[in-house]
Amino acid sequence: MHIPQAPVDGSRPMTVPIYQTSGFSFSDPAVMAEAMGSPTGPFVYSRYTNPTVRSLELAVSGLEGGAGAIATGSGMSAINTVLLGLLRPGDHLIAQRALYGGTSAMLSELAARFGISVTHVPGDDPAALRAARRPETRLVYLETISNPTALVADLPGMCAAARELGLLSVVDNTFATPMLCRPIEHGADVVVHSTTKYLSGHSDVVGGLAVIADAGLYERVWHFAIELGASADPFAAWLVVRGLQTLALRMERHCANAEYLATRLAAHPAVTAVHWPGLASHPSYELGRKLLPGFGGVFSFDLAGGRAAGERFMKAVRLAVLAPSLGGVETLVMHPATTSHRSLTAEELAANGIGEGTVRIAVGIEHPEDLWADVSQALA
Ligand SMILES: *Cc1c(COP(=O)(O)O)cnc(C)c1O
Repeated sequence: MHIPQAPVDGSRPMTVPIYQTSGFSFSDPAVMAEAMGSPTGPFVYSRYTNPTVRSLELAVSGLEGGAGAIATGSGMSAINTVLLGLLRPGDHLIAQRALYGGTSAMLSELAARFGISVTHVPGDDPAALRAARRPETRLVYLETISNPTALVADLPGMCAAARELGLLSVVDNTFATPMLCRPIEHGADVVVHSTTKYLSGHSDVVGGLAVIADAGLYERVWHFAIELGASADPFAAWLVVRGLQTLALRMERHCANAEYLATRLAAHPAVTAVHWPGLASHPSYELGRKLLPGFGGVFSFDLAGGRAAGERFMKAVRLAVLAPSLGGVETLVMHPATTSHRSLTAEELAANGIGEGTVRIAVGIEHPEDLWADVSQALA
């Protein structure tokens, strides 16, 4: 909650100021030249970075334990900045099978157009990772907690295998946040975030960020990022900084509310399965208990009544909102079979662990009894 700030003579503002400027002026051309060549030099141009953006970068880099961070305009732009910055045509990457939809689409369409090939393996199977490695493999891509079935990646096992094979590991830590997991402590080289979600926490901004463990690698990716131009806007960065100050409190409540709902849903006769890692029936139960102090607010559950029941549930909730995204203070529900995953056949849905009656819930920070009252009346 104490956000690093550029110093001001004698005192400092209580909140991080919004530096709404595209550039900075100099009296010495040599200082200006230095500023243009380094991520840690004086501020020069807001595409490179900006004092408000830098506060965000320092804060999250500090939380994740990185050498530096690069704030971007969206989570997808952070992911693409890192992947395009580290890979070249002909390279191969190994990604975990359960991936965020946008990342999955990008890897199958955009990456292919740039001559980058992808093999998918389970996120908790270092032996499968070793078997998938080719001479041209460069990188392993993981997500700490997956969407919508909340599978937990074996970060220590997968990052150690990657390192052994000379591969870089990149981890999307959006669902866990540094409150629950710091992938660099488990051997990751790069951590990416959609700051749109828990880090900002109020459904009012789209943003992304990459944290890089090694100082040399950070400089390399920074140089590429300014060429790519995926920069964060100062006002958007300010909104994320503002949200970050309550991240610890919000995550505690998201985790507690999710546990409360998951436990009650598991005992409800209209529900056939609850995909929350804290339940012994979940495939990540053991790994999750070992790696994470909590599982965040996103999980899914299956309704006995199939597609029709899923659609009826969406229309019946009163407090929860039918909406995409996650990580805001309010609870959101979604029916993957008729919305985000509507183009998939029943077989394809099943292969992704999504049933016709699966409901995804992104639990907010409301009072738990208010939430259960809403969910149970919708189930009824
Ligand atoms: C939302 C999300 C993204 C993409 O972020 P945007 O800010 O929407 O571009 C990437 N990964 C995960 C896990 C996400 O939830």
